[in-house]
Amino acid sequence: MKTLESPPASAVGGEVEVAPRSLLRSAPITPAHLERLAIVYVRQSSPKQVLENRESTARQYAFAEQAVALGWPRQRVVIIDEDLGKSGRTAEGRSGFQRLVTEVTLNHAGLVLGLEMSRLARSSKDWQAFFEMCAIFGTLIADEDGLYDGNDPNDRLILGLKGLMSEMELHVMRNRLDHGRLNKARRGELFFSVPLGYVRLPSGKVDLDPDEQARAAVRLVFEKFEELGSIHAVFFWMIEHGIQLPVRPRQGANKGRLEWRRASLSTLAQVLHHPMYAGAYAYGRRPGARKGRGAGERPPRQWLPIDQWQVLIRDHLPAYITWEQFLSNQERPKQNQPRPDTRGTPRNGCALLAGLVVCGRCGWRRQVAYGSKDKAQYRCPHDRDTATAQTCCGLSAGVLDDLVSAQVLRALEPAALELSLQAQGDLRRERERLEKHWKQKLQRARYDVELAERRYQAVDPENRLVAATLERQWEDGLRQERQLKEEYERWCRQTLPQLSAADEARITALASDIPGLWHSPRTTNADRQAIIRCLVERVVVHAERDSERAEATIHWAGGYESRHAFARPVTTYGQRSDFDQIMGRVVALREAGKTAEGIAAALNAEGYRPLRYGRSFSPKVVRDLLLLRGFAGERNDAALLGPNEWHVKALARKLKMSRVRLWDWARRGWVHSRRTAVQKVVILWADHEEIRRLQALLRSKRRCMQSYPTELTTPKERASKRPARR
Ligand SMILES: [Zn+2]
Repeated sequence: MKTLESPPASAVGGEVEVAPRSLLRSAPITPAHLERLAIVYVRQSSPKQVLENRESTARQYAFAEQAVALGWPRQRVVIIDEDLGKSGRTAEGRSGFQRLVTEVTLNHAGLVLGLEMSRLARSSKDWQAFFEMCAIFGTLIADEDGLYDGNDPNDRLILGLKGLMSEMELHVMRNRLDHGRLNKARRGELFFSVPLGYVRLPSGKVDLDPDEQARAAVRLVFEKFEELGSIHAVFFWMIEHGIQLPVRPRQGANKGRLEWRRASLSTLAQVLHHPMYAGAYAYGRRPGARKGRGAGERPPRQWLPIDQWQVLIRDHLPAYITWEQFLSNQERPKQNQPRPDTRGTPRNGCALLAGLVVCGRCGWRRQVAYGSKDKAQYRCPHDRDTATAQTCCGLSAGVLDDLVSAQVLRALEPAALELSLQAQGDLRRERERLEKHWKQKLQRARYDVELAERRYQAVDPENRLVAATLERQWEDGLRQERQLKEEYERWCRQTLPQLSAADEARITALASDIPGLWHSPRTTNADRQAIIRCLVERVVVHAERDSERAEATIHWAGGYESRHAFARPVTTYGQRSDFDQIMGRVVALREAGKTAEGIAAALNAEGYRPLRYGRSFSPKVVRDLLLLRGFAGERNDAALLGPNEWHVKALARKLKMSRVRLWDWARRGWVHSRRTAVQKVVILWADHEEIRRLQALLRSKRRCMQSYPTELTTPKERASKRPARR
């Protein structure tokens, strides 16, 4: 190693070495080095440093002179300065450093110069790899302190140490910065930017926006969220009513000036999640960039829970909402998410208790499963998600919805008058809020026009160029004001100025007929769900697999609980407690000679209900029940047949003809026939005489286009019809 201020004699020539080589341990510059390039690497960590640390940058450029002093011709000294403004924390994203590496590996570089080792790399790993490469290709490395050869063990030691120190230095610098920042944050004085609705005063303090309209718009966001309960709903409401958000840009030509911008979901989410609106100062709400992450990669976006924030000072800043309101605003969007453990938002499905039903057996929240458009089930996902034997049974949505709806309607009844007043008040308040917003918009437009006018008046008319521009601004202002006035008039026309007496009477009438309102086709399922959610927190259902008996516990908002037993629809009659009773009735009616239609009608009249919820007994269901009790096999039951009666199959065999043809004759009325009561089996009647006639009919040949003789196709008068039994 040798200082650069005294270049080796061999390189400069003419001077005599004053110490033995072994003592000086100079990295020898050989002609092989001089033949190749000398590369100066220039870097500053950040754009700010490039602007402010001009001295350091200049020193780095001047370092090129050292290469000339060491014997490189001026035209063979290359400066790589592409990495100005880039951190040396990693080699990634530094194209200049990559180019330097390429030059070394292509054996183009005899010497690499950097003002300090830290300019080349702050990462010990990158640095090791770099000087290892320089050693392989015989490239020397120089910094302000000396010249190093990567193949020399002592130089390697120094280079390694310098790399380590450079990395450590970065660590210390960052630590010092972080601690300084954290200390300032602990005092609640560190602000990078303030959210909309706030301004930073020149003193560094934070205050509410001085503009009244801006403050009103922010308050409106919180009020609407309180009312609508979801960020999406607030967003669509703002778009519908043309309400914009007050933004003061942090940079650019309009820095700090109030601008009105269209609301976006992300901005609204930021407003609702920012603790500053509740007057709290917070720092470290998101984890910082992890160490060793590549340059250009952004830190992870997820937000930490409140108890993990680094600093939280409540009641430190002027507030729009209370801390309690802030906490509830954090919880609501979480509950809106469609997850198994949350309530979700009201949707248009027919299940009214979606997200509210809890399984009484396992405590899991039941999910809605839609079979067809109007059939829903509350299913317990426990068995599926834990891969255990099926123990929690499904529950048809209709029966539970009806039960809870009836309870909710009963609960609402006494509040009817209050509701009607509330509804009127809500409508009036909403109108007032919008009216105020419009007035402020118009006031602002008027002010802009007046300002432009004053400016125009103040300018010297001789200064034509300026006067023309100001005049144009004045005209623009006037045009915008006119446009706004027209929009306001349109809005006034669309919105009723005040509720008329008739409207108020209508609202009162509607509110007093809550069941009518509830069942009205104009009330959507989402409305009904929203109403239930206002009153009911959750419904815990206990149901057993092998029984129809079920119990629902309604947990009302406010802590009251009510229990209700009900019969849930089951899939088999075996699960029904009244099955024996139903069966007894069916058999009794059957034996009394009733048909399936008659039995169904009787059961419905007596108040029995079949398996499917909301249906009544049909003849088909009765026939199925009859089959269960051994009233099956009617088709083969010889007891069905009276004297001279035949099943179609038997008579066809007797006549030696096809069954289809005989069936056809029966249909035409050429044979006496009847159907049985239950299964509608066709029974034919034919005595000896009739059989002989049918045999003759079978034998008779029919010419083309001629019909059978009438005497053969007409059956004889039947003596007596056997009454239908079974
Ligand atoms: Zn369950």
